[in-house]
Amino acid sequence: IIDVQHVNKAFGGLQVINDCSIQVEEGSITGLIGPNGAGKSTLFNIIAGALPLDSGRILFDGRDITNQPANALFHQGLLRTFQIAHEFSNLTALENLMMVPPRQAGENLFATWFKPGEVRREEAEVRRRALEVIDFVGLHHVRNELAGNLSGGQKKLLELGRTMMTDAKVVLLDEIAAGVNRTLLGDLVGNIERLNREMGYTFLVIEHDMDMIARLCDPVIVLAQGSVMVEGSIEEIQNNPEVIEAYFGSPAA
Ligand code: ATP
Ligand code: MG
Repeated sequence: IIDVQHVNKAFGGLQVINDCSIQVEEGSITGLIGPNGAGKSTLFNIIAGALPLDSGRILFDGRDITNQPANALFHQGLLRTFQIAHEFSNLTALENLMMVPPRQAGENLFATWFKPGEVRREEAEVRRRALEVIDFVGLHHVRNELAGNLSGGQKKLLELGRTMMTDAKVVLLDEIAAGVNRTLLGDLVGNIERLNREMGYTFLVIEHDMDMIARLCDPVIVLAQGSVMVEGSIEEIQNNPEVIEAYFGSPAA
């Protein structure tokens, strides 16, 4: 569903993405791992429309989306989460979900949601949907807390809820497990699995937590110095001498 073809990107003299080609199959949870500085985040930014590429092209659902802005991609069902959760801290968790504009709705619907003193039909509908989503991600008990008071892990669950509010097709998760405690991590992983299996979401996942990659992702792509080093199942990756060397500095004995 995503087809990255021969993409190059340099910052000044530094070639960060180097003739990189990856495919993400529809319905998969594809992992993207690699040493620090490999270019993972840069590649995400390029796919999600936040950074122009130097050459190459990117297809989404067969359509050329090269260098399209993030907003246009959002309306086609492709979006990313951010490494740092970007909630509105002085709105409640529920209101944060209600603020997410639905895909394909015009901007005026967004503007009408929070008109004071007037409950519109759209608002009731959006509230109903937000309540469903907040249940799904396991934050019902804190729905009326200010988002700024949620724990780091709860903010990540809220972040996942925001993507559900948009009815996205493909979601790029940027280290969503970072800083999340073990209990909430289980919820997060379970929710990602359910979104994938029950609701047909496709995920591309950057993650340093190898347990999470092992549990969720197939296939896994290893990026090194801006290009694909290997791609395969988690077992193939973990037993690959090149990968072991890249991660641990010396080949397996
Ligand atoms: P990490 O696992 O540490 O997050 P990464 O694989 O996500 O690493 P990137 O953040 O994509 O790596 O960075 C790849 C290289 O590009 C690094 O050497 C980084 O310093 C450089 N880089 C990234 N963004 C920029 C920028 N805006 N300007 C200049 N250099 C950049
Ligand atoms: Mg990164």
